[in-house]
Amino acid sequence: MARKMLIAGNWKMNCLTADGTTLAKEIARQVKENKFDCEFLVCPPFTLLAMVKKCLRGAKVALGAQDVHFADKGAHTGDISPYMLADLGCKYVIIGHSERRTDHGESNELIEKKVVAAHNVGLTTVICIGETLEERENGRTIQVCQNEIFGSVPEDATAKNTVIAYEPIWAIGTGKTPTAADVEEVHAAVRKALAKKLGRSTAEKIRILYGGSVKPSNAKEFLALPDVDGALIGGASLKADDFIEIAKNAPKLK
Ligand code: PEP
Repeated sequence: MARKMLIAGNWKMNCLTADGTTLAKEIARQVKENKFDCEFLVCPPFTLLAMVKKCLRGAKVALGAQDVHFADKGAHTGDISPYMLADLGCKYVIIGHSERRTDHGESNELIEKKVVAAHNVGLTTVICIGETLEERENGRTIQVCQNEIFGSVPEDATAKNTVIAYEPIWAIGTGKTPTAADVEEVHAAVRKALAKKLGRSTAEKIRILYGGSVKPSNAKEFLALPDVDGALIGGASLKADDFIEIAKNAPKLK
Protein backbone atom coordinates (compact mmCIF):
# COMPACT_ATOMS: atom_id res chain seq x y z
CA MET A 1 0.00 0.00 0.00
CA ALA A 2 1.33 3.42 -0.92
CA ARG A 3 1.24 6.13 1.73
CA LYS A 4 -0.89 9.20 1.04
CA MET A 5 0.52 12.43 2.40
CA LEU A 6 -1.22 14.05 5.38
CA ILE A 7 -1.02 17.81 5.92
CA ALA A 8 -2.11 18.51 9.48
CA GLY A 9 -2.60 21.81 11.29
CA ASN A 10 -2.19 22.06 15.05
CA TRP A 11 -3.82 25.32 16.08
CA LYS A 12 -2.70 24.82 19.69
CA MET A 13 -4.28 27.30 22.18
CA ASN A 14 -5.07 29.87 19.49
CA CYS A 15 -8.18 31.41 17.93
CA LEU A 16 -11.50 32.61 19.28
CA THR A 17 -14.80 32.21 17.44
CA ALA A 18 -14.24 35.08 15.00
CA ASP A 19 -10.72 34.34 13.77
CA GLY A 20 -11.23 30.57 14.03
CA THR A 21 -14.29 30.81 11.79
CA THR A 22 -12.45 32.92 9.24
CA LEU A 23 -9.48 30.55 9.22
CA ALA A 24 -11.56 27.36 8.92
CA LYS A 25 -13.77 28.81 6.19
CA GLU A 26 -10.78 30.00 4.19
CA ILE A 27 -9.07 26.60 4.44
CA ALA A 28 -12.31 24.91 3.36
CA ARG A 29 -12.70 27.30 0.42
CA GLN A 30 -9.17 26.78 -0.85
CA VAL A 31 -9.32 22.99 -0.42
CA LYS A 32 -12.58 22.90 -2.40
CA GLU A 33 -11.24 25.17 -5.15
CA ASN A 34 -7.93 23.40 -5.77
CA LYS A 35 -7.04 19.83 -6.58
CA PHE A 36 -4.75 18.24 -4.01
CA ASP A 37 -3.08 14.85 -3.86
CA CYS A 38 -2.80 14.92 -0.06
CA GLU A 39 -5.23 14.55 2.83
CA PHE A 40 -5.94 17.45 5.20
CA LEU A 41 -6.47 17.59 8.94
CA VAL A 42 -7.08 20.55 11.23
CA CYS A 43 -6.89 20.34 15.02
CA PRO A 44 -8.41 23.43 16.67
CA PRO A 45 -8.75 23.84 20.43
CA PHE A 46 -11.64 21.93 22.08
CA THR A 47 -13.72 25.11 22.27
CA LEU A 48 -13.85 25.47 18.48
CA LEU A 49 -14.31 21.85 17.37
CA ALA A 50 -18.07 22.06 16.77
CA MET A 51 -17.86 25.41 15.02
CA VAL A 52 -14.92 24.38 12.82
CA LYS A 53 -16.75 21.21 11.84
CA LYS A 54 -19.59 23.36 10.46
CA CYS A 55 -17.14 25.60 8.59
CA LEU A 56 -15.47 22.59 6.95
CA ARG A 57 -18.71 21.11 5.63
CA GLY A 58 -18.27 19.88 2.05
CA ALA A 59 -14.47 20.21 2.12
CA LYS A 60 -12.20 17.20 2.35
CA VAL A 61 -10.59 18.28 5.61
CA ALA A 62 -10.72 15.99 8.63
CA LEU A 63 -11.30 17.34 12.12
CA GLY A 64 -9.05 16.43 15.03
CA ALA A 65 -8.50 17.33 18.67
CA GLN A 66 -5.21 18.09 20.41
CA ASP A 67 -5.54 15.75 23.39
CA VAL A 68 -7.90 13.26 25.02
CA HIS A 69 -8.41 11.47 28.34
CA PHE A 70 -8.14 7.68 28.44
CA ALA A 71 -11.42 7.14 30.33
CA ASP A 72 -14.78 6.77 28.58
CA LYS A 73 -16.50 9.10 31.08
CA GLY A 74 -16.66 9.93 34.76
CA ALA A 75 -15.01 12.02 37.46
CA HIS A 76 -12.24 13.74 35.48
CA THR A 77 -12.95 17.44 35.81
CA GLY A 78 -11.82 19.45 32.83
CA ASP A 79 -10.99 16.44 30.68
CA ILE A 80 -12.54 15.29 27.40
CA SER A 81 -13.19 11.63 26.60
CA PRO A 82 -12.61 9.80 23.30
CA TYR A 83 -16.38 9.28 23.00
CA MET A 84 -16.94 13.03 23.24
CA LEU A 85 -14.48 13.65 20.41
CA ALA A 86 -16.04 10.98 18.22
CA ASP A 87 -19.48 12.39 19.04
CA LEU A 88 -18.35 15.81 17.81
CA GLY A 89 -17.23 14.37 14.47
CA CYS A 90 -13.51 14.18 15.17
CA LYS A 91 -11.62 11.60 13.14
CA TYR A 92 -8.19 12.24 14.62
CA VAL A 93 -6.59 13.20 17.90
CA ILE A 94 -3.04 14.39 18.55
CA ILE A 95 -1.55 12.57 21.55
CA GLY A 96 1.73 13.13 23.35
CA HIS A 97 2.66 16.47 21.82
CA SER A 98 5.87 17.67 23.46
CA GLU A 99 3.99 20.62 24.93
CA ARG A 100 1.78 18.14 26.79
CA ARG A 101 4.71 15.93 27.73
CA THR A 102 6.40 19.03 29.19
CA ASP A 103 3.49 21.15 30.50
CA HIS A 104 1.49 18.22 31.88
CA GLY A 105 4.21 15.69 32.61
CA GLU A 106 2.73 13.12 30.22
CA SER A 107 4.69 9.86 30.17
CA ASN A 108 4.94 7.24 27.43
CA GLU A 109 2.74 4.96 29.57
CA LEU A 110 -0.02 7.56 29.84
CA ILE A 111 0.23 8.36 26.15
CA GLU A 112 -0.12 4.69 25.23
CA LYS A 113 -3.24 4.45 27.43
CA LYS A 114 -4.77 7.46 25.69
CA VAL A 115 -3.90 6.04 22.28
CA VAL A 116 -5.59 2.71 23.02
CA ALA A 117 -8.70 4.49 24.33
CA ALA A 118 -8.86 6.66 21.21
CA HIS A 119 -8.47 3.65 18.92
CA ASN A 120 -11.29 1.90 20.76
CA VAL A 121 -13.77 4.53 19.56
CA GLY A 122 -12.43 4.61 16.01
CA LEU A 123 -10.23 7.70 16.25
CA THR A 124 -6.92 7.83 14.40
CA THR A 125 -4.13 8.99 16.67
CA VAL A 126 -1.24 11.28 15.76
CA ILE A 127 1.42 10.21 18.27
CA CYS A 128 4.15 12.82 18.73
CA ILE A 129 7.77 12.03 19.48
CA GLY A 130 10.98 14.04 19.37
CA GLU A 131 14.18 14.95 21.14
CA THR A 132 15.25 17.99 23.16
CA LEU A 133 18.19 20.12 22.06
CA GLU A 134 20.32 18.60 24.80
CA GLU A 135 19.49 15.09 23.64
CA ARG A 136 20.38 16.00 20.07
CA GLU A 137 23.66 17.58 21.11
CA ASN A 138 24.50 14.44 23.06
CA GLY A 139 23.88 12.27 20.00
CA ARG A 140 20.83 10.62 21.56
CA THR A 141 18.16 11.60 19.00
CA ILE A 142 17.61 8.17 17.45
CA GLN A 143 17.61 6.40 20.80
CA VAL A 144 15.12 8.87 22.32
CA CYS A 145 12.76 8.65 19.35
CA GLN A 146 12.91 4.86 19.19
CA ASN A 147 12.28 4.63 22.94
CA GLU A 148 9.23 6.87 22.55
CA ILE A 149 7.95 4.59 19.78
CA PHE A 150 8.48 1.46 21.91
CA GLY A 151 6.88 3.15 24.94
CA SER A 152 3.90 4.99 23.49
CA VAL A 153 2.76 3.07 20.40
CA PRO A 154 0.43 0.21 21.37
CA GLU A 155 0.38 -3.29 19.88
CA ASP A 156 -2.97 -2.53 18.21
CA ALA A 157 -1.46 0.23 16.05
CA THR A 158 -2.12 -0.04 12.31
CA ALA A 159 -1.74 2.30 9.37
CA LYS A 160 -5.45 3.03 9.64
CA ASN A 161 -5.53 4.08 13.28
CA THR A 162 -2.04 5.52 13.80
CA VAL A 163 0.11 8.33 12.43
CA ILE A 164 3.48 9.26 13.95
CA ALA A 165 4.72 12.85 14.07
CA TYR A 166 8.44 13.38 14.54
CA GLU A 167 8.87 16.82 16.05
CA PRO A 168 12.30 17.82 17.37
CA ILE A 169 11.33 19.88 20.40
CA TRP A 170 13.98 22.52 19.68
CA ALA A 171 12.48 23.07 16.21
CA ILE A 172 8.92 23.71 17.38
CA GLY A 173 7.98 27.36 16.99
CA THR A 174 11.60 28.46 16.82
CA GLY A 175 12.19 28.82 13.08
CA LYS A 176 15.08 26.36 13.43
CA THR A 177 14.95 23.01 11.64
CA PRO A 178 17.15 19.95 11.31
CA THR A 179 18.73 19.36 7.91
CA ALA A 180 16.78 17.28 5.44
CA ALA A 181 19.36 14.50 5.88
CA ASP A 182 18.85 14.56 9.66
CA VAL A 183 15.07 14.35 9.24
CA GLU A 184 15.32 11.40 6.85
CA GLU A 185 17.72 9.62 9.20
CA VAL A 186 15.29 9.91 12.11
CA HIS A 187 12.24 8.95 10.04
CA ALA A 188 14.00 5.86 8.71
CA ALA A 189 15.00 4.91 12.28
CA VAL A 190 11.43 5.47 13.48
CA ARG A 191 10.13 3.20 10.73
CA LYS A 192 12.68 0.59 11.80
CA ALA A 193 11.42 0.80 15.40
CA LEU A 194 7.82 0.49 14.16
CA ALA A 195 8.83 -2.60 12.18
CA LYS A 196 10.37 -4.14 15.26
CA LYS A 197 7.24 -3.45 17.28
CA LEU A 198 4.47 -4.02 14.73
CA GLY A 199 6.04 -5.96 11.88
CA ARG A 200 7.56 -4.73 8.67
CA SER A 201 4.41 -4.68 6.58
CA THR A 202 2.51 -2.46 9.06
CA ALA A 203 5.53 -0.19 9.52
CA GLU A 204 5.80 0.35 5.78
CA LYS A 205 2.22 1.61 5.70
CA ILE A 206 2.21 3.91 8.75
CA ARG A 207 2.55 7.59 7.94
CA ILE A 208 5.34 9.48 9.66
CA LEU A 209 4.92 13.27 9.59
CA TYR A 210 7.65 15.81 10.17
CA GLY A 211 6.82 18.77 12.43
CA GLY A 212 8.88 21.75 13.60
CA SER A 213 8.88 25.15 11.90
CA VAL A 214 7.47 23.84 8.62
CA LYS A 215 6.60 26.73 6.33
CA PRO A 216 5.98 27.23 2.59
CA SER A 217 9.67 27.92 1.93
CA ASN A 218 10.99 24.65 3.42
CA ALA A 219 8.02 22.31 2.86
CA LYS A 220 9.14 20.99 -0.50
CA GLU A 221 12.51 19.80 0.80
CA PHE A 222 11.02 17.94 3.77
CA LEU A 223 7.99 16.51 2.00
CA ALA A 224 10.16 15.06 -0.77
CA LEU A 225 12.12 12.85 1.65
CA PRO A 226 11.42 9.10 1.20
CA ASP A 227 10.19 8.47 4.76
CA VAL A 228 8.35 11.76 5.30
CA ASP A 229 4.63 11.27 4.71
CA GLY A 230 3.32 14.71 5.53
CA ALA A 231 3.68 17.51 8.03
CA LEU A 232 2.32 18.54 11.41
CA ILE A 233 2.22 22.32 11.29
CA GLY A 234 1.80 24.73 14.18
CA GLY A 235 2.39 28.42 13.49
CA ALA A 236 2.00 28.25 9.72
CA SER A 237 -1.34 26.45 10.04
CA LEU A 238 -2.85 29.64 11.48
CA LYS A 239 -2.54 31.33 8.10
CA ALA A 240 -4.75 29.64 5.51
CA ASP A 241 -2.54 30.71 2.58
CA ASP A 242 0.61 29.27 4.20
CA PHE A 243 -1.13 26.05 5.21
CA ILE A 244 -2.44 25.54 1.67
CA GLU A 245 0.88 26.52 0.11
CA ILE A 246 2.62 23.83 2.17
CA ALA A 247 0.10 21.27 0.91
CA LYS A 248 0.84 22.25 -2.69
CA ASN A 249 4.35 20.90 -2.13
CA ALA A 250 3.16 17.43 -1.15
CA PRO A 251 4.01 14.68 -3.62
CA LYS A 252 1.21 12.32 -4.58
CA LEU A 253 2.23 9.10 -2.84
CA LYS A 254 5.19 7.56 -1.07
C1 PEP B 1 3.73 21.85 16.50
O1 PEP B 1 3.52 22.39 17.56
O2 PEP B 1 3.24 20.74 16.30
C2 PEP B 1 4.60 22.52 15.55
C3 PEP B 1 5.24 21.79 14.69
O3 PEP B 1 4.71 23.89 15.64
P1 PEP B 1 5.48 24.87 14.61
O4 PEP B 1 5.07 24.46 13.22
O5 PEP B 1 4.99 26.24 14.97
O6 PEP B 1 6.92 24.67 14.83
